[in-house]
Amino acid sequence: MKEVKYKGLCTKLIEELKSKGIQDSKVLEAISNTPRHLLFDPVFRDKFAYQDIAFPIGENQTISQPYTVAFQTELLKINRASKVLEIGTGSGYQTAVLCYMGAKVLSIERHKSLFQSAKLFLSQNNYRAQLFFGDGFLGKKVFAPFDGIIVTCGAPYIPEALKSQLKIGGRLVIPVGEGDVQQMKLITRLNNKEYEETSYGDFKFVPMLKNLNN
Ligand code: SAH
Repeated sequence: MKEVKYKGLCTKLIEELKSKGIQDSKVLEAISNTPRHLLFDPVFRDKFAYQDIAFPIGENQTISQPYTVAFQTELLKINRASKVLEIGTGSGYQTAVLCYMGAKVLSIERHKSLFQSAKLFLSQNNYRAQLFFGDGFLGKKVFAPFDGIIVTCGAPYIPEALKSQLKIGGRLVIPVGEGDVQQMKLITRLNNKEYEETSYGDFKFVPMLKNLNN
């Protein structure tokens, strides 16, 4: 149960997300029931947990901005029967939102420390996602095909492996671009060979990287 103080702050955040154009009531419900404050150090919790901003989580990475999480989740169009693959577990916030929506969620993270802390957060709060430590460029072929794939880091290009792991009709939501700004793209698989691509404007993400330098 969320403390009353955080419920109030979260209600304001939901109003802000609506005013920015988020309409899917299931997505808004998931965000209002996901305890984002638990992912913040107590020092920053009251001030920042329910602001619509990204925030550092260590390893030079950030917990995604709630608007971005809402926007990408809305584009995925998932339901309780969906199997979803997330690339970039990070804090586990987006993972928790997807779990709340009833999807079967698999998520990959390339930083060991973030993989471990997200695993702890999710299991302690009864979110049943399957987490993997590894390289998201490869997807998770043994568990494919997926109804949805969501990439939460800025990809230099659209990895073929991810496209090929979509079901027919499946949706890949991926921010693409190598600089400071990425274009949000939705790739829908039409049949075995064909995909449709739609762009949804500019967003800012930490980069999707292949090899760890540390
Ligand atoms: N969904 C996260 C966002 C975290 S930021 C959240 O809600 O908190 C993006 C994450 O993608 C970072 O944790 C980063 O380490 C991870 N990442 C970057 N490149 C990756 C790759 N190739 N495979 C898996 N994870 C990757």
